[in-house]
Amino acid sequence: MTAEDRRERPGAAATAGSGTAGGGVAAEPAPGRLVDDRVIPPGGEWSGIVREGHVLRIVDLEGRQAVDFLCYLAADPSERYNAADTMKLAGTIFLTTGHRLYSDLGRPLFTIVDDTCGRHDTIGGCCSRESNRLRYGVEDTPNCRDNFLRALARFGLGKKDIVANLNFFMNVPVAGDGRMAIADGWSRPGDHVDLRAEADVLVAISNCPQIHNPCNGGRPTPIRLVTYVPPAGAGLTPGGTPARA
Ligand SMILES: [Zn+2]
Repeated sequence: MTAEDRRERPGAAATAGSGTAGGGVAAEPAPGRLVDDRVIPPGGEWSGIVREGHVLRIVDLEGRQAVDFLCYLAADPSERYNAADTMKLAGTIFLTTGHRLYSDLGRPLFTIVDDTCGRHDTIGGCCSRESNRLRYGVEDTPNCRDNFLRALARFGLGKKDIVANLNFFMNVPVAGDGRMAIADGWSRPGDHVDLRAEADVLVAISNCPQIHNPCNGGRPTPIRLVTYVPPAGAGLTPGGTPARA
């Protein structure tokens, strides 16, 4: 990934004039009734239930911070996010506004209703102690897999419940010959992605602590999680038409 690629990120044109980049989000956290608002420190994790119709906003406060993400049907967490079906339904490996996150039983768990970054990763997976040893020769590193295990344990879930995950604000380009890599992120300070829950959804998040590849710009930073109820008539009606349709 070159500096030129960074400037040409797909979300750049779509977000012009949105007024949300550059810290505006911090002053006005939610375009609706606030349900929850918290900052997750660098390398931290969170789990919780987002109720149907509520919107979870993930804010990349300082930019270039990967956010590893898993989700499950709260009523029966054996039904969970399915990366392959999500990609097939989207027709792309890069997710943005209008795309849905599907469960392994064909149920939309979330719809992406707003996105100032423009592209999120479905294939890079999460970092782990073991993959860091294999890839970088380092031992006992903070990692997203351990974060997921801590986050999931609060809901009685564990190793068997970790599946291929989504990465918000992570940049994993794939070349024409199939080569892929974790490259410099292109999210800017204040970029956000808004996820409308299409059912009661259990979410586990790792604010990636990785420092051995460029996914966090070499310096893990905090993120903000804002849950809100969108105003009626805002085009965010539960189960309604995706924003991009
Ligand atoms: Zn990670």
